[in-house]
Amino acid sequence: MNAVLRYEELAAELGVRAIAGLSLARHTTLRVGGPAEWAFFPRTMAQAARLHAELRRGELPVRIIGAGSNLLISDQGLHAAVILTAEMIAEPVVSHDRNVFALSGTKIPGLARWAAQRGLSGLEFAEGIPAQLGGAIRMNAGANQSSFSEVLDTVHVAGDEGEVRHHRCGKDDFGYRDSFVMREQLFVLGAQLALKEGDPERIKHRATEYRDRRRSSQPLSERSAGCVFANWPDQSVGALIEKLGLKGLAIGGAEVSRKHGNFIVNRGDASADDIRALIDHVRETISRATGRAPRLEVEIWEDRW
Ligand SMILES: Cc1cc2nc3c(=O)[nH]c(=O)nc-3n(C[C@H](O)[C@H](O)[C@H](O)COP(=O)(O)OP(=O)(O)OC[C@H]3O[C@@H](n4cnc5c(N)ncnc54)[C@H](O)[C@@H]3O)c2cc1C
Repeated sequence: MNAVLRYEELAAELGVRAIAGLSLARHTTLRVGGPAEWAFFPRTMAQAARLHAELRRGELPVRIIGAGSNLLISDQGLHAAVILTAEMIAEPVVSHDRNVFALSGTKIPGLARWAAQRGLSGLEFAEGIPAQLGGAIRMNAGANQSSFSEVLDTVHVAGDEGEVRHHRCGKDDFGYRDSFVMREQLFVLGAQLALKEGDPERIKHRATEYRDRRRSSQPLSERSAGCVFANWPDQSVGALIEKLGLKGLAIGGAEVSRKHGNFIVNRGDASADDIRALIDHVRETISRATGRAPRLEVEIWEDRW
């Protein structure tokens, strides 16, 4: 059977929306990225788990995209079957012990607000992280001295046979911008978050404080993928970039943010190549100046670069 038919048939059988040649630029916060050979939009955990298992048996590599807020995707696009979790959304469910269940496509800012309105504390730190839950768990996203690992009880992942597996989180499952999901290349379908009872006014106050801090230090109205490099334990890479005089440096439509040295922004017409070239230049400059190269936090996907 030819590949086009196979992917179309699979999508129809599972009731999943599928698009051939979908431009990925609209699905990343940098707003760059060429087409995906195939793109799939599952809605439920069961559908997504089955889809994932079937796709892994196919000829195309499988990739997963959440909010695309940590991705730089080649303008040439991806020779891949891409699962987008944007439609895996539903009202979160809270149980009597304040465990909250949410699907992987749930947007973090909305989830944090939802919890705050119900007096559920624990997600204030995540205010303003423009991720979806699955991507945030994989990256162990964090801010304000906290990260997702601190609130995760159980992560639901896709099993090899298309089943939904439940992973109880333990202390070795996460590190700084690192997780068992990343190490084992798993697909997160949803999660139970262990939140605490809190005073809604205090939660709101803390979240507002974090939001104001973020607004004053990050270029939130511009297109970016957040911090490009992971900080060293003993050094902020953004501060170092500023010290090296790289703020405002541009290649094509890509520019080192004038507000935050560790952000690269798309001034509107940047190509993925522009952004990539600027990342390489900044990294080399840091390396020459300090003798060590920072680890990339942004993921670069370039199948056909
Ligand atoms: C303005 C701005 C501010 C930011 N601030 C922060 C911050 O304070 N702290 C921080 O940590 N990060 C920050 N980020 C970066 C980004 O939001 C995080 O890395 C986030 O965790 C990425 O989530 P996502 O859903 O966008 O994932 P994507 O960018 O879509 O994907 C990132 C990785 O996760 C994988 N992935 C996505 N969904 C799933 C899933 N369901 N299961 C398995 N793997 C999956 C992808 O395959 C990819 O490998 C910021 C980004 C921006 C643009």
